[in-house]
Amino acid sequence: MSAISNPALFQKLPSTDELLRQAEIQKLVEREGHSQVTESIRLVLELLRQEIAKGRLDEKSLNLALDGLSGAIARQLQQSLRYSLRSLINATGVILHTNLGRAPLGASALQHIGETAVDYSNLEFDLDSGERGKRDIHVQRLFQKLLAENAGNAEHNSAVVSTIVVNNNAAAVLLALNSLAEGGEVIVSRGELVEIGGSFRIPDVMSKSQATLREVGTTNRTRIADYERAISDRTRVLLRVHRSNFEITGFTEQPLLEELVALARRRNIPLVEDLGSGALFDLRSVGITGEPGVLDSLRTGVDVVTYSGDKLLGGPQAGLISGRADLVARMRSNSLFRALRVDKLTYAALEATLLAYVKDDHDSVPVLRMMRLSKDEISRRAELLIARIRSSKLKLELIDGESVIGGGAAPSAVLPTRLIAIAHPDQSADRLCARLRASATPVIARVEEGKVLLDLRTVFPAQETTLTAALASLD
Ligand SMILES: *Cc1c(COP(=O)(O)O)cnc(C)c1O
Repeated sequence: MSAISNPALFQKLPSTDELLRQAEIQKLVEREGHSQVTESIRLVLELLRQEIAKGRLDEKSLNLALDGLSGAIARQLQQSLRYSLRSLINATGVILHTNLGRAPLGASALQHIGETAVDYSNLEFDLDSGERGKRDIHVQRLFQKLLAENAGNAEHNSAVVSTIVVNNNAAAVLLALNSLAEGGEVIVSRGELVEIGGSFRIPDVMSKSQATLREVGTTNRTRIADYERAISDRTRVLLRVHRSNFEITGFTEQPLLEELVALARRRNIPLVEDLGSGALFDLRSVGITGEPGVLDSLRTGVDVVTYSGDKLLGGPQAGLISGRADLVARMRSNSLFRALRVDKLTYAALEATLLAYVKDDHDSVPVLRMMRLSKDEISRRAELLIARIRSSKLKLELIDGESVIGGGAAPSAVLPTRLIAIAHPDQSADRLCARLRASATPVIARVEEGKVLLDLRTVFPAQETTLTAALASLD
């Protein structure tokens, strides 16, 4: 093929109007609308013009392209009208993967969202009195059951623990600090001035909340006496922040939560704890220690805790603020609360998720089910999946590895698993990963030491057939 463009070939291209009159294209117009079909035609014709101009098409190959023109237009149209936000297969083994949408919702949450979304609801309507109601009450009663009655501590009985819901935990921290410490000081350890992914930085949130950050201690060591010395008549809050995505090891010291509680009580200053993940489920039951639960903190005597709805709780994106009713009431009446509140779909998903906890139906919350899967169970599924793949070239083997909780749980919070390791004689691991991502249902894997690794802990059993097909196509 010559690399010189042939101007005569441009004459062979049909016009947009001619194409729009074709029966096949007319069908596309009926289905997807005139403007989008016209745009796809223009894009496809422009591509052909560029190919001709670069001398990449001769008469024969142009004719071939013209024969397939309506197909190419249909594909272009499908591509441009496809959702940008797509579901995919998370084979990374990271249960709360922030880039992959964090917690997947359970079936009951989806159903409750569905009925709440398409019908009218009593979102802010009291069915008994027929008068205006509050949207909070739909989850308030469930939080009461989960946090107060079980707390077992007389001081923190149901009467005093209340919960409000905002858009995310970043908003929860902002609202808590602004409501309790605007114009005053908040004492935080230098070892806890964290940045969480997506540029949530404690010092920045502090300044947006109009509170002054009073740092105490050093990066690796902070003692209770450091807090005590920093307290003045400007102090409004003692803040504890869960370190989430990093750990400080070696020569370290951090006061016990009990010591902070005692100090806060003695000086009559509220103690606020940003838990980040905030589990409502005892992680010790799946072998993970050192991740404080919401109940642990409230029982210890923390006045207010903030946590995410879509991390270890396994619900929708939300920020939850639970604690002393008088302090939470101040946040509720802050005008910021109105700006940070959540919609009915979030309440529906949250209510369904919390109801599963109330019923001890932990397996219906997907992230809890994934955490509870045993290595043996994952191994059995992986063996069956490997056996179904007929491939002459792919080399598949099972190896031991670790699943990661993610989402701001301690980096050391891992669960033993079995991984499917994939290698190909002619293709690099990065190339295999790129091809898996390009599957009709994208598959996201991890790469370690030149091998593609798949962890079925985060793959739903219903996705296994699709995953098998994607793997078989790598041959
Ligand atoms: C994740 C996290 C946040 C931010 O929570 P979002 O719900 O993502 O806004 C804040 N603080 C800590 C400690 C976290 O781990």
